[in-house]
Amino acid sequence: MGIACRVFESAGEIRPLGVGLNLLPHSARVLTVLGLAPALAASGIETRELVYYSKHGRRIWSEPRGRHAGYRWPQYSIHRGALQLLLLRAVRERLGDDAVLEGHRLVGFEERDGAVVASFAGRDGGARATARGDVLVGADGIHSTVRAAFYPDEQEPKFSGRLLWRSVTRSSPFLTGESMIMAGHASQKFVAYPISPQARDEGASLVNWVAELTIGGDEEPTRDWNREVDRDRFAPAFEAWRFDWLDVPHLIADSGPVYEFPMSDRDPIARWSFSRTTLLGDAAHPMYPIGSNGASQAILDAAALAQALAEVDDLPAALQRYEAERLEPTSRIVLANRGQGPEAVMQIVEDRAPQGFARLGDVISDEELKTVASGYKRVAGFDLEALNARGETSLV
Ligand SMILES: Cc1cc2nc3c(=O)[nH]c(=O)nc-3n(C[C@H](O)[C@H](O)[C@H](O)COP(=O)(O)OP(=O)(O)OC[C@H]3O[C@@H](n4cnc5c(N)ncnc54)[C@H](O)[C@@H]3O)c2cc1C
Repeated sequence: MGIACRVFESAGEIRPLGVGLNLLPHSARVLTVLGLAPALAASGIETRELVYYSKHGRRIWSEPRGRHAGYRWPQYSIHRGALQLLLLRAVRERLGDDAVLEGHRLVGFEERDGAVVASFAGRDGGARATARGDVLVGADGIHSTVRAAFYPDEQEPKFSGRLLWRSVTRSSPFLTGESMIMAGHASQKFVAYPISPQARDEGASLVNWVAELTIGGDEEPTRDWNREVDRDRFAPAFEAWRFDWLDVPHLIADSGPVYEFPMSDRDPIARWSFSRTTLLGDAAHPMYPIGSNGASQAILDAAALAQALAEVDDLPAALQRYEAERLEPTSRIVLANRGQGPEAVMQIVEDRAPQGFARLGDVISDEELKTVASGYKRVAGFDLEALNARGETSLV
């Protein structure tokens, strides 16, 4: 958009952290407009289908995804670190090496003489630098410092009572080799999808998986994306989940390090933009990782913000326009995800047939299945016709 910008990152060194995530067709469209489709295709798996199963491994729902479902853009399953490094490389190539400054933790900011002055601390906590800009964008995650400045009374993130354990396992491919599956229900779930095109080309699969259990309580346990834990904390609960299409205990036993994190979000807020400062991504709307929306919605925010800044000369008005476009849709997703989003069908089956079923149609109708799936796509902004009507060159 020709807007000069700098990214200040608190980490001393940007490393490819995290495990897998999904980019839905609407965010893949934005990255394609930015010329990143070849890099994405080389780093992620184009997701072919999404399949929901009961805890007994019986199929409840399956749907094609991305281009296989008729979207003009793919859905990608990708390692978060691979995506992050791909974006970092593109930013440095296009905006210069000094566009991203590591080891700069934002500690305060104020508006002065028609600009925002931000202060940063270094790794040792000592004052490091100040920077002056026309606009400050707080894209600083679920524990956002920028958000806390505007909402000083907000408490810690709201804990759902559910813990997630995540890892990757190299194994033989399951289903199509490009399938994403979810099995179980709201209080015990297993999610798996392959994320490595290199492993696929070798006839194998690098499977990203998430095991989820309800432990209760409403105080958020420590959130440390890099905390490794012992698999005995959750593996026994999945011992019986050996299905003819996937051996869950085997995936858990054979994996690399396992990371634990709490499933939490925050209540939607009424405002993101305050004069020359605004919020974006998890800082603005942290949500449960349901329906593959965390990273995708952050990318859609960025596209809307860039477009508003390019088109509206008055900068506070541009930030208002961005907020008007994005606050309500993302708040709806936060709330929809609290109600299980598209995964609600798994809970319906569990409630109606906890011991299993002989015929799915006796438990849930086709119509009900379709209504849940299409309702969520509308909320999350990737309704097929609406998205396919979008252009190929404009960010929004
Ligand atoms: C280490 C890590 C691992 C993750 N792993 C996964 C995963 O495996 N799967 C998944 O679905 N989601 C994961 N997430 C969440 C996912 O990345 C986000 O939901 C989504 O990408 C939205 O991105 P975001 O840029 O808004 O926030 P984030 O990805 O959280 O990025 C926020 C960034 O701001 C930096 N930051 C925070 N405070 C300050 C400050 N005061 N000054 C300067 N910089 C600051 C952080 O270091 C971080 O780099 C992870 C997040 C993190 C931080």
